[in-house]
Amino acid sequence: TKDVKVDVLIIGAGPSGCVASAYLNGQGLKVKVVEKSTFPRFVIGESLLPRCMEHFEEVGLLDALKSGGFEIKNGARFLRDDIVCNFDFSDKHTKGWDWTWQVPRADFDNILAKEIKKMGVDLSFEHEVVDVNIDDEGISTTTINDGEGNPYKVEAKFIIDSSGYGRVLPRLLGLDKPSSIPEHSSIFGHVKDINRPEGEEGTMITFDVLDKDTWFWVIPFSNGDTSLGFVGTNEFIDSFEGDTSERLKTMFKHSDYYYERFKDAPLLFEPKSIRNYSKAVTKFYGKGFALTGNSAEFLDPVFSSGVTFATESALLSSKLITRQFKGEMVDWEVEYSDYIKAGVDVFATYVKEWYTGNLQTLFFHRPENPEVKRQICAVLAGYVWDETNPFVTKHKRIIKTLAHLINMEKEKTN
Ligand code: FAD
Repeated sequence: TKDVKVDVLIIGAGPSGCVASAYLNGQGLKVKVVEKSTFPRFVIGESLLPRCMEHFEEVGLLDALKSGGFEIKNGARFLRDDIVCNFDFSDKHTKGWDWTWQVPRADFDNILAKEIKKMGVDLSFEHEVVDVNIDDEGISTTTINDGEGNPYKVEAKFIIDSSGYGRVLPRLLGLDKPSSIPEHSSIFGHVKDINRPEGEEGTMITFDVLDKDTWFWVIPFSNGDTSLGFVGTNEFIDSFEGDTSERLKTMFKHSDYYYERFKDAPLLFEPKSIRNYSKAVTKFYGKGFALTGNSAEFLDPVFSSGVTFATESALLSSKLITRQFKGEMVDWEVEYSDYIKAGVDVFATYVKEWYTGNLQTLFFHRPENPEVKRQICAVLAGYVWDETNPFVTKHKRIIKTLAHLINMEKEKTN
């Protein structure tokens, strides 16, 4: 493979890299995407949020995705004991998309990658970034292995690191920092959903809450398979013996609601496990580069925010790069870092308050408060920058305060 010179090098062809490259290519910039694996490939992150539909639409990827026939996600259901908390995205505080999809990512990401190739983006599979050097002007020289053991170099004016769990630039530039989210781990896999009931019950995405720290996801796909995953403390996940198939099967027994449906469902591959999945970085950008998606930050799967942040940050960074290339001044600290962090902070509060139990207190309190529910629903749909929503602007206090009031009420009546 010959050395090349481009405007923007993009590392990784997941949703983040595909959205970024579609946008930049559309602006007439010379883009190269390098992806270390071959597609289709498995990756976790199957429940999307309505907000990300805007991103796919804006960069011209939505129609291709629509042809994938994925399962429609209109909301999300949370179960605890006998209480059901059902969010419906059409009944939310913020305007915007009221549906999205539940997707096997191998198929979903493959459609995205094929579509950006169709748009004319130079995308190379089995090309792995192994080293990077960025000079004082932000011009980078990246060393890439081309899959046949031949290294070559790409000179770029800007790098977008969309390498997800690869976390290429955080590793190579030493940008990792500990996450503020309490440590959790997960085991997950796909089953053939042989006992899937008819109608909504069969297809609805559900979070079955076992206790404060432990929950179980059920994400049915339109192809008849369903994704199942447990999340818990490291101690909980480590307390099961055997390989991941045996451990996942034993964990099912903890779900009263779903045990019968899934107890005989054949696993489609050896389930995977991820330990301490939350990640953070010291900065989201630097001279000549930006981190997007999971390469920058990952909180927790409980509110399915990962892909939406991946596409939000990809689109925003691409717009800023385009302006910069046109000679405009861009304040990356304010326009990129502060903006992305504001959204991440909202979700980080929800994740933390989920595991303190306060948010669960709000979800499962009866009778429900319809206004509160509509405001929380907008956050769960990914609209975390809407300053008319008190559950966005006052996120640090409002959940705690309301949970406290509910708990005091309960104590009075007991
Ligand atoms: P990815 O989709 O991971 O893509 C990165 C790409 O970069 C990969 O294809 C990889 O092969 C490539 N790459 C890596 N290293 C290199 C290299 N050196 N050179 C070249 N290419 C490279 N998110 C949701 O939205 N909904 C969910 O329901 C959800 N559930 C989750 C459950 C768990 C247990 C966990 C841990 C995460 C979950 N997530 C979920 C998060 C989700 O997985 C990620 O946020 C999402 O995949 C990020 O997309 P991305 O484009 O940033 O990266």
